[in-house]
Amino acid sequence: QAKVLKRGRATFFSEDLSLAARERIRMLTELRAAFSAERLFLAYQPQVDLKTGRVLGAEALLRWKTEDGRSIPPDQFIPLAEQSGLTVPIGEWVLRTAGRQLKHLADRGYDRFRMAINVSHTQFREPGFVPALGRALRDCAISPQQLELELTESVAIGHIDSTAAKIQEIRSMGITVAMDDFGTGYSSLSVLKQLNVDRLKVDRSFVQEITERGDATGIAELVISLGHQLNLVTIAEGVEAEEQRRQLLRMGCQEGQGFLFGRPMPAADFERWLAGQG
Ligand code: C2E
Ligand code: MG
Ligand code: MG
Ligand code: MG
Repeated sequence: QAKVLKRGRATFFSEDLSLAARERIRMLTELRAAFSAERLFLAYQPQVDLKTGRVLGAEALLRWKTEDGRSIPPDQFIPLAEQSGLTVPIGEWVLRTAGRQLKHLADRGYDRFRMAINVSHTQFREPGFVPALGRALRDCAISPQQLELELTESVAIGHIDSTAAKIQEIRSMGITVAMDDFGTGYSSLSVLKQLNVDRLKVDRSFVQEITERGDATGIAELVISLGHQLNLVTIAEGVEAEEQRRQLLRMGCQEGQGFLFGRPMPAADFERWLAGQG
């Protein structure tokens, strides 16, 4: 009896595994097809001045629209892209698409608008990354001051010196750099100090705590004061409630992004939204 049960379990597990593997291969095939069929697109979410609500720029967020009309969030397919060599071509596509949109907006008078794009650690580590950045700036005819790269702490793991040097190189081109999701990974204060970025993003999970806790002495406040210590501009992500905006301002956070101000929107919707902001 026990043997049968055991064997049954073993079979169950291996079937389960191969199912997962097959599902992965199927998704990967679809992702490749989606990439070539241009079924990836960018949504733009406003970044605003917390005090005045003035729009400062936007973060470009990757979306995958499947053939049957579903929209797959990036957290579900970026890891897949990472494992399959698609990171670099997709990353370049993101850079150029966001760059063209930035140029489009600049030509319509939004010439101080900032466009932030997410860069994965694989893409960042690629030796061709900085040259590709330079080419994209030139080809899209955008001013580097209007472009921001969002990096996560994971870029620095095991490569602190080379990462710091690369960030310096990028900043010397005029591009700004933000540290995304700070405090959620293997953060170390000294790493943040060594990397020398322009902006610090307060992760959504810490912003969420603000109203739940009632008091304001959460991690958000620590991150914001750390930002001040290091002379960084802080931007809070995932701001959903007016109370959070108020508390963040009180803590000294300058900028914000979240559903309270605007959801991520496809280019045309975003442009309409922007025009309505006056
Ligand atoms: P992230 O860079 O931290 O982006 C912020 C995420 O928070 C986005 O999720 C955004 O839609 C969501 N968000 C913003 N405001 C609110 C809010 O008020 N409430 C809630 N509940 N959510 C909010 P999204 O678009 O699903 O992206 C998830 C992650 O995927 C991003 O986190 C980023 O790490 C990654 N990602 C997105 N686009 C790209 C890309 O082009 N390249 C790379 N490498 N990664 C990307
Ligand atoms: Mg980001
Ligand atoms: Mg973030
Ligand atoms: Mg986050």
